[in-house]
Amino acid sequence: MPRKETLFCSFCGRPIKRNEFHVNGIDALMCDECCETVSNIVRENHIHAEKNKKRELKFKLLKPIEIKEKLDEYVIGQEEAKKVIAVAVYNHYKRLLHAAQDNNDVELEKSNIMLVGETGTGKTLLARTIARLLDVPFCIADATVFTEAGYVGEDVESILSRLLQAADYNVEKAECGIVFIDEIDKIARKGADNPSITRDVSGEGVQQAMLKLLEGATVNVPPEGGRKHPEQKFIVVNTQNILFIASGAFNQMDKIIAERLNTNRIGYNQENRVLDKNNMMQYITAQDLKNFGLIPELCGRFPMITYLSSLDKDALKRILLEPKNALIKQYERLFIFDGIELTFTEDAIDYIVDKTISLKLGARGLRSIMERIMTNAMYEFPSSKQKKIEIDKKYAAGQMGEKGD
Ligand code: ADP
Repeated sequence: MPRKETLFCSFCGRPIKRNEFHVNGIDALMCDECCETVSNIVRENHIHAEKNKKRELKFKLLKPIEIKEKLDEYVIGQEEAKKVIAVAVYNHYKRLLHAAQDNNDVELEKSNIMLVGETGTGKTLLARTIARLLDVPFCIADATVFTEAGYVGEDVESILSRLLQAADYNVEKAECGIVFIDEIDKIARKGADNPSITRDVSGEGVQQAMLKLLEGATVNVPPEGGRKHPEQKFIVVNTQNILFIASGAFNQMDKIIAERLNTNRIGYNQENRVLDKNNMMQYITAQDLKNFGLIPELCGRFPMITYLSSLDKDALKRILLEPKNALIKQYERLFIFDGIELTFTEDAIDYIVDKTISLKLGARGLRSIMERIMTNAMYEFPSSKQKKIEIDKKYAAGQMGEKGD
């Protein structure tokens, strides 16, 4: 009769009865209790890994070069601004990821971005494209509509209501979003350096209110935006990880920069450095923003300052033809749905660009000119029997009420 051997769990050492549940390995046994413990550890590990994976997926963290390459698909020119913004955004989200995973990390400071450049040069487009690439909530706020608390107008906090809306009221998501503040130059205080600004000192009050958001505060946000009502329930939003991108045309800024650099007529400054007098914006610093009328504390909250150049004829032509969503590509596609092959001649394109330059609205003017030229075509061509249609300069000029020769 074989000897009845006692079995022991190889992990906890507990004796196992033969009829008790256990797992047989090659050289080991595991009792039911150890099986359960191991199974729990595996499950928890799995949940933890999934959580971390989700955290990483909350935004797609691309490297600066990859961000720049993606921006190139939509934004023509503006190389310097694209580089600065790619680095700033990468650092911002890297900081966020590390903060989420490692509490002992050295605290990295947030770098909000200031974009300076004429209207229609791609400031909003840059910010919007970045937000789309990273797949984070994005909202645009116009600085001119804000007032100090207690005055008629919108409270600065309503900016965050828009961000919450963009994040489907998911607070955690909104707290990693991007806020674009347009026309920040319009809340500059009036000073000797910028007589073109019409706002009086109250601009400073709005700047102070904005500071609070930028400093990384916990803000009570009215969900529907607008004015606060006592009966309204607030949503608490922490702005610490929200990236703020401010933008403005800052008219006459080139003069302020030239004055600071003390350039003479030929383009040398006091240290005999040769300066490009046609593009003074490239030398912009926080000092110039201060001289323009932004309070020093606000300037300090925008450590990354970059400029967008005005768009010349060549750049406008490229904007018309090259980006993924270029206007010409969009019109061609619209007509393909009607089975019509639409083309534009070279001279028509040059004509559109020349007309746009005369509007002085930057690339923003391209759409309005194109719409004027294409309205009749979009009305008539879908019913025409022609399968190939060419827009030449004569046709384009005719639609603008001019002769095309
Ligand atoms: P800004 O914010 O500087 O006033 P926007 O970014 O709103 O100008 O530009 C208006 C439109 O002009 C954009 O939607 C885009 O179609 C076009 N645009 C402007 N700048 C560029 C650019 N550099 N590359 C491609 N398109 C541009």
